[in-house]
Amino acid sequence: MKAVCTTGMVADIVRHVAGPHAEVEQIMGEGIDPHLFKATPDIISRLAQSDVIFYSGLHLEGRMADVFERLAERKPTIAITSSIPVDKLQNIGHDEHDPHVWFDVGLWSLTIDSVEKFLTTFDPAHAADYKTNATAYRAELKQLDQECREKLAVIPTDGRVLVTAHDAFHYFGRAYNVEVRAVQGVSTETEAGVKEINGLVDFIVARKIKAVFIETSVSDRNVQALLEGCKHEGHNVGIGGELFSDSMGKAGTPEGTYVGMVRHNVDVIAKALR
Ligand SMILES: [Zn+2]
Repeated sequence: MKAVCTTGMVADIVRHVAGPHAEVEQIMGEGIDPHLFKATPDIISRLAQSDVIFYSGLHLEGRMADVFERLAERKPTIAITSSIPVDKLQNIGHDEHDPHVWFDVGLWSLTIDSVEKFLTTFDPAHAADYKTNATAYRAELKQLDQECREKLAVIPTDGRVLVTAHDAFHYFGRAYNVEVRAVQGVSTETEAGVKEINGLVDFIVARKIKAVFIETSVSDRNVQALLEGCKHEGHNVGIGGELFSDSMGKAGTPEGTYVGMVRHNVDVIAKALR
């Protein structure tokens, strides 16, 4: 079975659940912003040659909607977030939901169901393997969720504020009790204006926030503007570190896995805000 996946987070789940029964290809590598990603003719032909396509969904891959729609007429095209109950998603208006579910580890683990269900139906001969693999990965994520809670517990109550380049951390904030603010909105397709930047500068100064964070898949231009703005107001805020938001780290490194990227983020956040 040849499975083509969009983001690293999606590919990681498929690799875990499929094990040796699928060849998994990931089209969005390190540092790639899925909101802005457009399918080239080469990508379209790779998608067309696959047996199944797994993507994150909830408009994360906003510029690929037409491609998925066309491919869905010919082959299984699975939005893995479809196994998350709608009432657990964050509504962002116009009947749309925040797509960044992977930062609530417990919620993200519900997407394993979509992958397991598809593989079991498509290849029933290996159903027992898929079940074993899915169960093991759920247990691993349950442990990771607990680890996040323990590591973030060191941050004092009044310092539990995460300021980032774009609004990717609402689920993280809800799950782990951290207030989140960002320069750009839920999608990086909309640019931040002077008004948003100035508003956030006022917030950082008023709350005496020590550190803000850059993201590997988003330009740090806006975060630099925040630092300048705060300095101008006489408040020194530093860069707390670099977070993986919509893209995992380099393949072959710990951060090139979902578990490794979450662990990296939590360690960076806990260290900067403690
Ligand atoms: Zn995003």
